Amino acid sequence: MAKKQFKAESKRLLEMMINSIYSHKEIFLRELISNASDAIDKIYYKALTDDSLHFDKDNYYIKVIADKENRILKILDTGIGMTKEELENNLGTIAKSGSLSFKNENELKDGYDIIGQFGVGFYSAFMVADVVTVISKALGSDEAYKWESTGTDGYTIEPYEKDLVGTEVILKIKENTEDENYDEYLEEYRLKAIIKKYSDFIRYPIKMDVTKT
Ligand code: ADP
Ligand code: MG
Repeated sequence: MAKKQFKAESKRLLEMMINSIYSHKEIFLRELISNASDAIDKIYYKALTDDSLHFDKDNYYIKVIADKENRILKILDTGIGMTKEELENNLGTIAKSGSLSFKNENELKDGYDIIGQFGVGFYSAFMVADVVTVISKALGSDEAYKWESTGTDGYTIEPYEKDLVGTEVILKIKENTEDENYDEYLEEYRLKAIIKKYSDFIRYPIKMDVTKT
């Protein structure tokens, strides 16, 4: 499968991002949870104007799953998902915010606001992960796709199996180095603390599932 290249500007921006914009690596989780929450909000907004869509709050949640043994951290949501084109445009182009476009296209009602607008938060995942995989199925689509990237060297997209509409962001957490501890992002107490610190205001349940070994 041919690897697609990030646009040149994106490549430079991505390197900058990963190395300097964020001083605290832990905020990657805030960014991924806010994207997940935005994705659920988008279904909520669509349901306001589309009678065929019924928004039952119980069906919408965010889940954080840590698998220590395999160094995998997953953030999944039952939100609106992304089509192949959206994966390509929103994750393949840095500083492209699908959420800002959504905000501009839909008149948002009071009390609800989508967090995203800068189109850079997603890439903070590369501060803690060697590989980022996004599996997504868009609302109204029968197809699901897998987007994968190791950072600055481009990304691949291929068809994938997924039953539920929504998105899974799968991080292969980096190995510890002399100056940096990454193991902590697989620890339940640490993940809970980060969520409490930055994502306490999120309107949807954030479930947690940690496999200890
Ligand atoms: P922002 O949130 O500021 O728009 P991000 O870099 O965090 O920028 O995300 C880029 C875009 O990717 C989002 O605007 C959205 O369109 C899409 N996206 C990211 N994560 C998800 C997700 N979990 N579900 C659906 N779309 C997502
Ligand atoms: Mg975001």
